[in-house]
Amino acid sequence: MTVITRFAPSPTGHLHVGNIRTALHNWMWARKNGGRFLLRLDDTDTERSKEEYVDAIRADLAWLGLSADGEERQSARFALYEEKFEALREIGRVYPCYETAQELDLKRKILLGRGLPPVYDRAALSLSDVERRALEAEGRRPHWRFRLDHEAPIGWIDLIRGEQHFDPKLISDPVIRREDGSWLYMLPSAIDDVDMGVTHVVRGEDHVSNTATQIQMFTAMGASPPAFAHEALLVGTEGKLSKRLGSLGVSTFREEGMEAVAVVGLLARIGTSDPVEPVVDVAPLLNTFDFSRFGRAPARFDEAELAALNQRIVHMLDYAAIRDRLPEGMGEVGWNAIRPNLETVAQASDWWRVVTGPVESPGLEGDDRVFVALAADLLAELPWSQDVWKSLTAALKEKTGRKGKPLFLPLRLALTGRDHGPEMAALLPLIGRDAAIARLAPATS
Ligand code: GLU
Repeated sequence: MTVITRFAPSPTGHLHVGNIRTALHNWMWARKNGGRFLLRLDDTDTERSKEEYVDAIRADLAWLGLSADGEERQSARFALYEEKFEALREIGRVYPCYETAQELDLKRKILLGRGLPPVYDRAALSLSDVERRALEAEGRRPHWRFRLDHEAPIGWIDLIRGEQHFDPKLISDPVIRREDGSWLYMLPSAIDDVDMGVTHVVRGEDHVSNTATQIQMFTAMGASPPAFAHEALLVGTEGKLSKRLGSLGVSTFREEGMEAVAVVGLLARIGTSDPVEPVVDVAPLLNTFDFSRFGRAPARFDEAELAALNQRIVHMLDYAAIRDRLPEGMGEVGWNAIRPNLETVAQASDWWRVVTGPVESPGLEGDDRVFVALAADLLAELPWSQDVWKSLTAALKEKTGRKGKPLFLPLRLALTGRDHGPEMAALLPLIGRDAAIARLAPATS
């Protein structure tokens, strides 16, 4: 059996971190099993679906490295939905209803008032042809419900949640189609899962009750349901579904200098029993990926944890992997010198400007000015080599008796304009002889 998964966003907005996590897990499961990962655009809502979001979803997945093996759009599949709908209608599994939203609301309130579950009473099922025609003559158009089989208990073994049971009598027959003929999410999704041969439906636990009804849709269409994995939702550091998470997506991650592999590495592991680990490639994470490792408690997404992971990953990146993203002139030696000081790859430019100059003169006082002037003179005499920092500081130590911070800090300040940064031993050769002398010399004036 070839594993087929699908990520099914509605292109009515940008992907947020929760969607990305779902996409990732679908992709990982397909890749781990040598299967196929499909992007299915749930764009039946033609008003709210926008082409710009379709493009953004594709671009986000590409940036994350989640390549799809196929793309489908629900808006191109209405003929199939119509056909399946007709077949279900013929066998009495979908039926027309005429209640208005207000009428339904009233029914619900009455049931709740009596302490009963607000399940649709199926009044429309007992309408006679005459009554139906009368309603239509009034100008009412039907919406359509899927008729659940009350005699068929619903159950499945969820790959994350374990055994699940639902009593169909306690669930309203779901509305699948609106008065204007447009589709709600439920039935087209089940039709597509059958038609595309989806073997594993991986999605958020907010879909658990949809699954209960969709299982009966699969059966009604003569298909066996796929396997299901419903993931606990993602929460922010405050422990709840925050507004921040809803607006956090690839564009923010990019602006903040996060590597795609950091985002992927974190989202692959949070909420599982496996630790978050720095990796430069997602491949090793596939080995341990399994739904049995997911817990049922909400997964906590912490932006500070992402930034820390990102930093560790940046420190592991080889020059070859990021050379295209480095400032002009910055070679492998420069990258290796500066890399330990970076939180993000983008910061390489700041440190590279420190190398290429000009740097702001630090305005040293008193003894330090004299000391740095001496350093300029000594540097002019010393043979220039990769070890020049060592020989310069050794000579200065001998001449002045300075050591530790009083020895190193004025030099760092004069040479870089900053009181911290990459190892001076690595920076000085990059700065170059003349520039270094010039930076040390004016500090004395
Ligand atoms: N379009 C649905 C959603 O975004 C898809 C759910 C599913 O995976 O079936 O919630």
